[in-house]
Amino acid sequence: MGIAVDRPQPGSGPYHVQLATSLRTRLERGELRSGDQLPTSRELAKELGVSRSTVVRAYEELERGGWVEGRVGRGTVVTARGAAEGRAGPDWDGLLTDRARPSSTEHGEVLRMLATPGLLSFAGGVPSPEFYPAEAFQQITSEVLRQQGPRILQSCPLDGYPPLRSWIAERAGCAAEEVIVLTGSTQGLHLLAQAFVRPGDAVIVEAPTYAGALRAFRAAGARIHGIPSGPLGLDLDALRALLRRVQPKLLYVIPTHHNPTGASLSIPRREALLDMAAEYGLPVVEDDAYATLRYDGPALPSLRSLDRGGHVIYLSTFSKALFPGLRVGWMMAPQPVVRRLSSLRNVIDLFTNSLTQATLYEFCKRGLLDAHLQQVRPIYAERRDSMASALRRYAPELSFDVPHGGLFLWVRLSEKVTGFRLLQASVQQGLGFLVGTLFHAGSGGENHIRLCFATHPQRAISDGARKLAVALRQVGEEDVVRREVDAEGFVV
Ligand code: PMP
Repeated sequence: MGIAVDRPQPGSGPYHVQLATSLRTRLERGELRSGDQLPTSRELAKELGVSRSTVVRAYEELERGGWVEGRVGRGTVVTARGAAEGRAGPDWDGLLTDRARPSSTEHGEVLRMLATPGLLSFAGGVPSPEFYPAEAFQQITSEVLRQQGPRILQSCPLDGYPPLRSWIAERAGCAAEEVIVLTGSTQGLHLLAQAFVRPGDAVIVEAPTYAGALRAFRAAGARIHGIPSGPLGLDLDALRALLRRVQPKLLYVIPTHHNPTGASLSIPRREALLDMAAEYGLPVVEDDAYATLRYDGPALPSLRSLDRGGHVIYLSTFSKALFPGLRVGWMMAPQPVVRRLSSLRNVIDLFTNSLTQATLYEFCKRGLLDAHLQQVRPIYAERRDSMASALRRYAPELSFDVPHGGLFLWVRLSEKVTGFRLLQASVQQGLGFLVGTLFHAGSGGENHIRLCFATHPQRAISDGARKLAVALRQVGEEDVVRREVDAEGFVV
C-alpha cells in the first residue's frame, strides 16, 4: 500500500476507531491518490496483529465518511474526495504541537457521528433554545446602546464591566475585587490551569467529570488523578487515601448537579471535604455551573459559602441559567489570585465583550434572570421526569438515578454493551448522545452514556427513548451472534 499505519494501542479507544483515524490522517496528508487500493482486511490484520473484523470496521468507518469505497473485484480503494483532501502546502499536521492534537481518537469519532444531519440529539450540555429570552436581550441591547452610545463599545476593565462585577459580588456576598468576569467559565478553567499547573503537576478530578476541565488540565500538562464520583458525589475516603500520597496543585470538583452524573454532595459531605482541604492545605476549584437549575428542594449552599479557610476558588457561568452564546462566566477567588489571573487573562482576550456584559447586567438588575429561571425550572423538571419514565418504559434494562437538578441523566448500561457501540447503533436510528469515556481522564465510563433531558419536548424525548431501545436490542443481538461465532472459533 505504500503507507505506514499506526498499530492500535490498548487503552486508546476501540481498535477500529484508532485504525480508521490513522488511515484518515494518511489520507489527509495526501499520501494516497484517487483509485489507490488499500490492503485487504486479511493482509492488514496480519500486519498489525489485530482481528480482521477490526480492519473491516475501520474500512466501513472510512467508507461512511466518503474517504474510500469498496469496489467489486478491486477491494477497497481511495475515492477522489479522499485523495483531494490532502492538498499541497505545509505539513500542517507535522507542525502542530501535542496541545492541538485530539486527546482521544474515540472523542473525534463521537463528534463525527454526532455531526450526522437530522439527528435527534440528547448530546448537548445546554438548555432549551425555545425559552431563550432573545426578545428581552434585543430590547435591552438597543436601550444600552441608545443610553450609553459609543462609550459602551469602548474597552472595558479586564476584571469585568464594573456594574456587572458588583452585581455578581453582591449576590454572592463578597467584595467586587474578589470577582473576575470571564468569557465563559471555560476561560476560567484555562486560566486556572495555566496559572497553577506546571507540566507533570498533579491535579485531582472526579471520575467522571466535565470533559472541558479535563481538556484544560491536560493542555497544561497536568498529571490527572481521578477519584470515583457516584450518586453521593465525590468519594471522600478515596480522596483522603490519595492525598496521603499525592500533593496536588488543585482539586477540581462539581458538587452540585454534577456533569455528567447529576449528583450533589450533601451538606455534611461538603463540610467534610472542606475539613480535608484545611487539613491538607488543598486548593479546591468549585465549578458551580448548574446550581441555579435546581428542581426539588431548597438550594444547596456552595462549597465557597461554607468555606471558612479560604481554600475555594469558585467558578460559574450564565451559559446554563441563560444561554451559552452569551459567553459570560465568572470566578470568585482571593484578591491576590484575581489580580494574577487578570494579568494572565490580558494575554488571551483582554476583556469580555462589553456590550454583552452591559446588556446582561441590565437584564439581571431588572429581575429578568430570576423570572427566567422561575419559568424554565418546572419545564426542565417535567422533561427530566418524562425522560426517566420513557426510559423505564422502553428500556427497563438501563439504570440511572434521577437528579434533583442540572441537565443530565447518567445512564448505566449492562457490562456487555459499551456506550460507543450503542452510540453507533443509535446514530443509525437517528439518535445522538455522549458516551461515558469522554468524562474520564483514563479508562472508565465504557458502560455509561449521558443524556441531556432539557433540550427537547416530551414527544421527542419518548421518540428518543424508543430509538435507544431499538439500538439496545440491535447491539444485544450482535452480542449473542458474536458469542455464538466465538464459540465456533471463527472470528475475533
Ligand atoms: N463547567 C461545567 C461543569 C460545564 O458543564 C460547562 C458546559 N458544559 C462549562 C463549565 C462551560 O461553560 P461556559 O459556557 O461558561 O464556558
